[in-house]
Amino acid sequence: MNPKRKPLIAGNWKMYKTPSEASAFAELLTESIPAYTDREILVCPPFVSIPSVSKVIRGTHIMLGAQNVYPALEGAFTGEVSPVMLKDAGVTHVICGHSERRRLFGESNKQVCAKVRAVLEEQMTAVMCIGETGTERDRGATFQVLKQQLEEGLCGFNSENVPSIIIAYEPVWAIGTGKVATPQQAQEAHAFIRKLVSDRFGAPTAEQVKILYGGSVNPENIDALMACPDIDGALVGGASLKADSFAKIAGFALP
Ligand code: PEP
Repeated sequence: MNPKRKPLIAGNWKMYKTPSEASAFAELLTESIPAYTDREILVCPPFVSIPSVSKVIRGTHIMLGAQNVYPALEGAFTGEVSPVMLKDAGVTHVICGHSERRRLFGESNKQVCAKVRAVLEEQMTAVMCIGETGTERDRGATFQVLKQQLEEGLCGFNSENVPSIIIAYEPVWAIGTGKVATPQQAQEAHAFIRKLVSDRFGAPTAEQVKILYGGSVNPENIDALMACPDIDGALVGGASLKADSFAKIAGFALP
């Protein structure tokens, strides 16, 4: 991490925890995670659990995120949730283009870009996920994939709105597999992403943008990842579902 950027530890609860489980869990997190001033903490429950979690964490040091959004204010889009609805429910951050959405629901870079724009238009922060698959890494295409996802995902943005976007580098082969990227692999990808942002939007913008690492982060590997200069935090899946492991990750040692 770099002291110029406040680190963020975010929990993606995926499709786990009913509304009552989620509010009890949120209560536990407010007790087990200290009110840090040198880092930010975010939890992203399933849509249906957002109201119960919001009630518990409102006014605390824990921020509320969503895992997805539909890029329209309202309309005949059965089963979808709009950015206005999320904002009204207390959400400040929205994950866009998680690899599970890309892989299981066919989300394209173009759709991810539309979601990011919709989130920004409601003055929320988008957490845009990018990352290569294992096959892409094995054939040496990692940087090419990241470049395309980033360029197409950020199409139409400028140096003023890009700082409201957090980029999450999540190598698909590391998500939910227990195979974490080495700090060297993660730093190399993060530096590459920051250079792309710098080339396109200028160095001062790139210096402001947070880039999170995601993929099998746990209490044992977080410190080494956070010691990397371009890693500004973590997007945590499995290990965010238990209060003790998420609290330990949130309590990572400042390098
Ligand atoms: C994720 O869901 O974004 C993720 C990184 O999952 P995990 O930490 O379980 O690999």
